[in-house]
Amino acid sequence: MSENALTRRSFLAGTAGVASLAAVGGFAGFNAWENAQAVEGAEKDLRLVHSLCNGCSSKCGFTAYTSKGKLLKQIGDLAHNDAQGKLCARGYGFANIAFSKDRLTDPLKRNDKGQFEKISWDQAYAEIADKLKEIIDGSGVESVALVHDPRPSGSYYGPRFMNALGSANIYTHGAACYASRKGGFKQVLGYGDWTSDVENSKMTMFIGRSYADGIKPSQLMSLQRAHENGSKIVLVDPRCNNTRPFATEWVPIKPGTDMALVLAMSCELVRTGNYDKDYVEANVEGFDQWWDYTRTCTPEWAEEITGVPADTICRLAADFAEAAPAASIEASWRAAFGCMYTNSGETARTVAIFNTLLGCWNQKGGAIFTPKPKWGDLDKSKFKSVPKVEAKPYGNSELKLGTESNCLMAAEGARKGDLKAMFFYNSNMVAGYQNPKYLGECLDNLDLCVVIDVQMSETAQHAHYILPECSYLERAEAPQLNGGMIPSISLRDQVLDVIHPNTRSCDKIYTELAEACGVGEYFQFTLEELSDAQLKSIGRSLDELRRVGTINLHDQAFKYGTKPKFSTDSGKIKFCNDAVLEYGYSAAPHWAEPSVAPNTDEYRLIAGKQSVQSHNQTVNVGTLMDISKEYGLERLWINPAVAEKIGVKDGDTVEMSNALHTGKIKVKVTERMSPWAVYMPSHYGCSVKEQTNAYNFGLRAMDFTEFRIEPGYGGSCNHENSVKLKKVNA
Ligand code: SF4
Repeated sequence: MSENALTRRSFLAGTAGVASLAAVGGFAGFNAWENAQAVEGAEKDLRLVHSLCNGCSSKCGFTAYTSKGKLLKQIGDLAHNDAQGKLCARGYGFANIAFSKDRLTDPLKRNDKGQFEKISWDQAYAEIADKLKEIIDGSGVESVALVHDPRPSGSYYGPRFMNALGSANIYTHGAACYASRKGGFKQVLGYGDWTSDVENSKMTMFIGRSYADGIKPSQLMSLQRAHENGSKIVLVDPRCNNTRPFATEWVPIKPGTDMALVLAMSCELVRTGNYDKDYVEANVEGFDQWWDYTRTCTPEWAEEITGVPADTICRLAADFAEAAPAASIEASWRAAFGCMYTNSGETARTVAIFNTLLGCWNQKGGAIFTPKPKWGDLDKSKFKSVPKVEAKPYGNSELKLGTESNCLMAAEGARKGDLKAMFFYNSNMVAGYQNPKYLGECLDNLDLCVVIDVQMSETAQHAHYILPECSYLERAEAPQLNGGMIPSISLRDQVLDVIHPNTRSCDKIYTELAEACGVGEYFQFTLEELSDAQLKSIGRSLDELRRVGTINLHDQAFKYGTKPKFSTDSGKIKFCNDAVLEYGYSAAPHWAEPSVAPNTDEYRLIAGKQSVQSHNQTVNVGTLMDISKEYGLERLWINPAVAEKIGVKDGDTVEMSNALHTGKIKVKVTERMSPWAVYMPSHYGCSVKEQTNAYNFGLRAMDFTEFRIEPGYGGSCNHENSVKLKKVNA
């Protein structure tokens, strides 16, 4: 029997898993919720289904226990690499979205008065198809785009639909998550990704990233194991984030100056001869030119810029040297070098160079390039090949340092009138990126805006048509390929019957849209046929995956010590790269200030996740919002010195303002916030009345941030801002 097959014993064991997760996530209300779902005689009618969480893009595998159409319990699947037997609090809470009273239940069309009215699916498809034809005839298919944060089915059906139409304009959320880091890493390594082997490390530095706020179960467990093993975990962040129970040290830093810190640690490693000379000699090009500049980036120089004492910088560099190669700077996502500043891409370059000095690539405890599985070829008579689209996505030619198409360029395209029609799937672009007002105006310029979602959103408010999807618990999806130490395949199977009969799954919506738009020939298969064919292409089957939920591909497992093949033009690690010159950067990374410098009476506003919410996707879930309200999680964190300066104490309300926006918010006065910035969770401030739990709770950081695109890399520069604070009624 498979390690993950469903048995009565796994049901009982899983109960303990739920309890312990509840403790980790502080999710005291879950047991009450679980009890409320109790169904008399449930044991007799018990149905167990493997599926994937949708609370964030990690898509953790779980087993759902249902009886008489009720969801009784969810237990993280042991075999799923991200879950490892647990879900996080958001994952449990997000299940409630299926039963939300705020669900979209019917296709909607915006009428002449700007109000949404119910229409039939047939009318929606017919009118969308007619409008799309008119746009393509008049402006070309290059004026049509899709923005999505796809799940397994969306990743297949969305791009196929766009490509079938003839458009290459397919965009993800990357601009506000990983555009800078992937672009920066690629300029050095040829790759956009690596993973820190935290659990086996002797030292890992997180820059602006908090595993305990991002809270992927496997990452939190790896952090805990690293902590128990005595690993040095260093948090570099203007805020002492919630990873602190596992950390050895918090290094407060002025926001946006992380590049200077990494340059100085690099300088110190080479100055003291404490770097992996053999590795550098064998694998690096441009070292001498890089050192000509980096030798000037002394710890004393960086102290002035970063606020981190020179002694601390020297000690951190020495600690890294001692721990290497079982050490690395973690690769981050949305944080400091994910997308936040106009120097984020260049910071990412310095980080990739620093890890190279440690000689840690693919070493146990270092930074590793894990394998990703692929499907084999499908039968072309059944799954007809879509003609290759030769054009490049709109905006790509302006962002050559990035690794993929950029949705902010698409927004600009809409504003300029170059893009006329946009589809959004599972994407609330307007609320999630800088300056929602500006983004809304971009979308208002479209001739056709179609949103596919489960609830009304800030983006959907600008749509001409809204197509309601059933929630993730009510739909099956195509199999998901997962990269990792042991690559795997997992399945989102259907847990519940469809609750609102007029909602549909995304595979069905795209298939029917394609039919209406005259490209139905590329969708002549069912989801089940596609899933089985993909699995058979690698010698597996849908029946098998349904039974076990996750199949680990042990034959493709990562092996420590293998030499990565760097996919730069020379095959070497590039400490200098002329490709960046075009955007005003230096071939060897030179320190660059962030674009916005707050005045003495202003503060930089930084934002980030909390363990019980995932950006704006989860905030309307009642159980999760109850936690946010109960604990005042929307508050603005300020340092006591800042509180004294503006004359407020913990719990007082301040007015926060800048040229873009003004709002009132309670403060949390804490030594865990450095005096150089103020912090706010990134997901509150919902402005959609139909989201009855989330509406008007807290402020939205993005309302205070200008629309800005990082040159070359395309990051969304979410921390390039400044705000003023004053006590209310002062
Ligand atoms: S990390 Fe949490 S919210 Fe995200 S998929 Fe996993 S369980 Fe769900």
